[in-house]
Amino acid sequence: MNFFDTIILGGGASGCICGLLASGDIAIIDKQNKMAKKLLVTGNGRCNITNLNASARFYNDKNVDKYLNRFNVGETINFFQQIGLVFQYDGDKAYPLSNSAKSVVDVINNALKNKEVHTITDCEITDINLENGQFVLKSVSQQFFCKKLVIASGGKSVERFLEKYKIESSPFCPSLCAVKTTNTHNLNNVRLHDVKVYARTNSGKTKDDRGEVLFKESGLSGIVIFSLSSLFAREKNFSGKISIDLLPDLSAGDVAKLLHTRKFLKLRISDFFDGLFVKEIGYEILNRCKLDENRTSDKLNDYEINELAKAIKNLDFEVKGHYDNNQVYSGGVKLEALTDNLECKNIKNLYFCGEVCDVDGECGGFNLQWAWTSGAIVGKSI
Ligand SMILES: Cc1cc2nc3c(=O)[nH]c(=O)nc-3n(C[C@H](O)[C@H](O)[C@H](O)COP(=O)(O)OP(=O)(O)OC[C@H]3O[C@@H](n4cnc5c(N)ncnc54)[C@H](O)[C@@H]3O)c2cc1C
Repeated sequence: MNFFDTIILGGGASGCICGLLASGDIAIIDKQNKMAKKLLVTGNGRCNITNLNASARFYNDKNVDKYLNRFNVGETINFFQQIGLVFQYDGDKAYPLSNSAKSVVDVINNALKNKEVHTITDCEITDINLENGQFVLKSVSQQFFCKKLVIASGGKSVERFLEKYKIESSPFCPSLCAVKTTNTHNLNNVRLHDVKVYARTNSGKTKDDRGEVLFKESGLSGIVIFSLSSLFAREKNFSGKISIDLLPDLSAGDVAKLLHTRKFLKLRISDFFDGLFVKEIGYEILNRCKLDENRTSDKLNDYEINELAKAIKNLDFEVKGHYDNNQVYSGGVKLEALTDNLECKNIKNLYFCGEVCDVDGECGGFNLQWAWTSGAIVGKSI
């Protein structure tokens, strides 16, 4: 009979650390063929395990500090060192020394084996019920029973269960993803290395960041866009504006001055931005200002120069949606619905950890840190 003291649904980051720190007869169930397999794709294959600066300001919910203080970054690093992982650091970001996420997956799987945690793979749970004080989990071919259930299934997969048992949650919405916008068709594959980007939602919330942007056929990607996407995700509405400042170290006045000095190159307008921007960006600015390409630059008047400077400082795109390459989901079980040990206040012996909770962080190791912290808190308390 498939009966265990505790079942952890999901052998991802939070489920595995939970299983390793829990006591009793524990089983972890996952639909993948190996525990912690998803970690292989994290951090571009390097797995950015944590960030030395992790604190509530990098998350949507300011109460996160309360939990981070109970299993902090130092304890996370210590935990991984104890199971054999050797670290390296890139600024505040922690990675395995091997530069390979596989090392993290390996040490986790070795530790699970040593601790004799039951790991049940290739098993997708399709239904969960609470019957006579025990949890019953069903896959297509099997049933599992437990006294305590930990949901560590990442984003979205238990949406129906949350609804059925009226567990207070906020809707799941993709976050840390590329954003669909208007007007990028002619810029497809152009990469900007150091620009400032401003995002504004339709309700007026704003956020900005500086760094790399990559244009796609119908949208924007790159580290900065992933980071700004959380602004829209947290509103559950990907509509608003993204504006790129192509020359963030110069004021609009300085940009106009720079353009004035270039007027006397006497170039055709279509070549005016050569040497300053890649061709596609130059054309985009000219198109937006509707200038006749056949004129020469010395004929540009002050008004036209100011318009060009404005376009350079505010290359605007209307946000229309998101791509499905999200790194996390915003939304999930609200922390208010859970005790300090992340047990459901309304259903005893039911715990949540990781991304299924309504906690989402910035890029840079913060989301995995939440998975380690929340998984460890639950593991130690069951
Ligand atoms: C491409 C990519 C790169 C990322 N890079 C980073 C990074 O470098 N640093 C960082 O901090 N964060 C990163 N993240 C985010 C990070 O991976 C997540 O925050 C973290 O994995 C969440 O952990 P979790 O345990 O809650 O869920 P997950 O790690 O998603 O684990 C959930 C597990 O549950 C299993 N599962 C789900 N439903 C069922 C079911 N019904 N039946 C059986 N099994 C089920 C899944 O197979 C999965 O193994 C990245 C995410 C992606 C997608």
